[in-house]
Amino acid sequence: MSTWNHRVLAHKSKNPNCEGEVYFQIHEVHYKKGKPTSYTENGVSVGGEGYAALQWVLSHMQECLTKPVLDVDNWPNEFKGEFILKNKAMKDEKVILASDKASASLQTVKGWVSSTGRFFGKDERAARYAGSTHKKCECGVVFERKFYTKCQECRNKADTERYDKFEFKEWDGETMLCLYGSDEYFSDADDIEYYLTDNDLEPSDLQLMHCKPNHFTEVTGERWDEIMPECSDGKLPSVLVDALEKLNKVIMDLPPASWCEGKFRTEYKRF
Ligand SMILES: [Zn+2]
Repeated sequence: MSTWNHRVLAHKSKNPNCEGEVYFQIHEVHYKKGKPTSYTENGVSVGGEGYAALQWVLSHMQECLTKPVLDVDNWPNEFKGEFILKNKAMKDEKVILASDKASASLQTVKGWVSSTGRFFGKDERAARYAGSTHKKCECGVVFERKFYTKCQECRNKADTERYDKFEFKEWDGETMLCLYGSDEYFSDADDIEYYLTDNDLEPSDLQLMHCKPNHFTEVTGERWDEIMPECSDGKLPSVLVDALEKLNKVIMDLPPASWCEGKFRTEYKRF
């Protein structure tokens, strides 16, 4: 009894550009007593009298991908080549749970590991940086790298350059002063002298800045804009307006709440 079905056939290309290269095509293959005897000369195309017929052809063509590929050059034997492997991998796609053995395997992977034990894959630069403890400053000094890109001396130098750029203003002996870039404040000459003694410094060692006051800010009616009805035109109850006026008068008469670094540098001189 003769039967037929769709099968994948492996051909060797006769195209001069890629002669000998294997390509695959679906053909109709005919059988006698279950053995392949012949195949259609050309690969089959998908055709039929309607949607159902096309679907039938496609599903049978699909099915042939699960069967071994036949080798035209070694007819009617199976093709022993790469297509088989790929096909097999496709067929093997299945559900894998984390608990399944197949979900992972212990592999030896190669990559850069920092001295701190972190894996960086191919990124040698990052691994070397993470694994380093010291850094070479632009001046050549090797320093412990933690937060800075420059050594202490270079940072001091840069700080001084920045400080020197501020405009100089003579100190009147009363304005609050502070050390540049720090939380050290001085309200008078005594304060400065204490600091110099405590730290064994000379007046010329200090990078002093004038401070500017942080005043208590006035309270205005605008803070209630959002809750005022539209028809009020923002007009507050008169008792509240009066109270605000009194409050703001108190606020304006208050001394500064605190101080912060100003924009002028200065110096402290002993007389
Ligand atoms: Zn340096």
